[in-house]
Amino acid sequence: MHKITIAIDGYSSCGKSTLAKDIAHRLDYIYIDTGAMYRAVTLYCLKNNLINEDGKEVYKVQEFLDDITITFQCDPETKKCEVYLNGEMVENEIRSLVVANNVSAVSAIKEVREKLVSLQRELGKSKGVVMDGRDIGTVVFPDAELKLFVTADTEVRAKRRYNELRGKGDKVTLEEIKLNLEKRDHIDTHRKESPLVQADDAIIIDTTTLTRQIQADIAYDLVIEKVEEKANQ
Ligand code: C5P
Repeated sequence: MHKITIAIDGYSSCGKSTLAKDIAHRLDYIYIDTGAMYRAVTLYCLKNNLINEDGKEVYKVQEFLDDITITFQCDPETKKCEVYLNGEMVENEIRSLVVANNVSAVSAIKEVREKLVSLQRELGKSKGVVMDGRDIGTVVFPDAELKLFVTADTEVRAKRRYNELRGKGDKVTLEEIKLNLEKRDHIDTHRKESPLVQADDAIIIDTTTLTRQIQADIAYDLVIEKVEEKANQ
């Protein structure tokens, strides 16, 4: 089957990565979680005291970018990919609330974006890739054959993230999670560099009331449609 590039963008915790993983699995595509890359850079900043207490100021991260190496290791059987920061697996650490509370400030920095976007283009240069984030269909792969823009009601998104973190034993409150999502969405949509916007040619999937299976079925049908369209061109 003809392989394409699938770009998935949308707000925080609306189910982008679950959907991306599910379609990558069904299609035997590579899945790249670009949020994990911004989170890993944020973890580096936190570990090296480059962010002030209230998370509003990030100091000199530009000077340290050459010291930051981000890689993925994927299990060919399960297709599960884990992110590594300078050789250390940081998949669990990057999902913490402290990283979530600081990641949008780090992601707003031009030089951070330039470094990660170039890495993302390299990782996704062969077709047969599903990449999710905030600027995939607009900046990273504006020529992606299929662009999805995922949304969901804020309450539902907060509940989903809350259950995920509580399930891992994190002592977070629903209110904290909701505030974090709202803050991140605000910064992500209002920043100067590559703000989160829906690409003109993106198709919206609202996951508020959809089961995981139905979301994946909808996306899969859209992929097949696109692939057939490409094959007939
Ligand atoms: O997708 P996830 O919630 O893990 O992303 C974490 C943060 O990384 C987002 O809130 C956003 O600030 C940033 N991000 C971004 N561009 C991307 C992916 C994520 O700015 N392509």
